[in-house]
Amino acid sequence: MPATIDLHCHSTISDGMYSPEELVAYAHEQGLKVMALTDHDDMGGLARARVAAEQLGMQFINGVEISVTWKNRTLHIVGLKVNPEFAPLKDKLATVRQGRLERAAIIGKGLEEAGITGCLEGAKAIAGAGIVTRSHFARYLVEAGHVKDIKTVFKKYMVKGKPGFVNHVWMPLEEAITLIKDSGGTAVIAHPGRYDLGRTNLHLLMHEFRMLGGEAIEVVTGSHNPPQYQQFAMIAHRFSLKASLGSDFHGPGMSFMPMGRIQDLPTNCVPVWQDWEEAKALN
Ligand code: AMP
Ligand code: MN
Ligand code: MN
Ligand code: MN
Repeated sequence: MPATIDLHCHSTISDGMYSPEELVAYAHEQGLKVMALTDHDDMGGLARARVAAEQLGMQFINGVEISVTWKNRTLHIVGLKVNPEFAPLKDKLATVRQGRLERAAIIGKGLEEAGITGCLEGAKAIAGAGIVTRSHFARYLVEAGHVKDIKTVFKKYMVKGKPGFVNHVWMPLEEAITLIKDSGGTAVIAHPGRYDLGRTNLHLLMHEFRMLGGEAIEVVTGSHNPPQYQQFAMIAHRFSLKASLGSDFHGPGMSFMPMGRIQDLPTNCVPVWQDWEEAKALN
């Protein structure tokens, strides 16, 4: 049986393909009962998604996926049950989005120097009113016929050592956790299996995250394979962290997984939604 809760996905407010309303309708069609919208560094879709979810009788959880720099690496911290009106968080994310624009200009320049022109304008046009991410550059390069698919764009252009990569400095881990918590939310490490940390750093991260007030890690996510579900269930247990679950859906055919297909948490996990009123129907 697939899970009927999904606590990680994206709309056009960040790099998803569906508007907040379309995303909620799709989630409902896939049989979900509880969902969180977690756009990158932006809470602008939450009010719209909530209205749509209420109309369909779905439980909606406010979320956000914050970009963080930890030990010169980018990590993603999901905030669940955040308050989108909490000024310190809202203002900080506005600053992050400004930083993203400056980063996008540098990415555009790098690609131009590699002989591909018009990328900044192209990525911005695809992003529309939403933030500009590497996904938008990737989509532009595919749509303009420069590269055959998104996966190849990342490999050839958008990762460390490639012309479209910028070593951008995001907010510190501690700041993201504090902002999430102060707004009333729960901090969750997104897709921990994706960071290629090695055992020592992985354990250090878990320890630090917990000490700073972080509460959960994603165990079942579109970025993990089934052996990693078990691996991270053990890690959660060892570091007294709760477990979260989310597809990280971005759109049909895009990274990372459709909604409504993902399996439940392993039974040895404590779900992050254990005490949530919105998830009572699931227990
Ligand atoms: P950014 O936050 O601007 O660095 O963009 C990161 C986003 O790019 C992620 O959230 C994913 O949606 C997407 N992404 C990162 N790596 C890949 C990859 N290898 N293939 C496809 N999409 C990716
Ligand atoms: Mn993304
Ligand atoms: Mn992520
Ligand atoms: Mn995500």
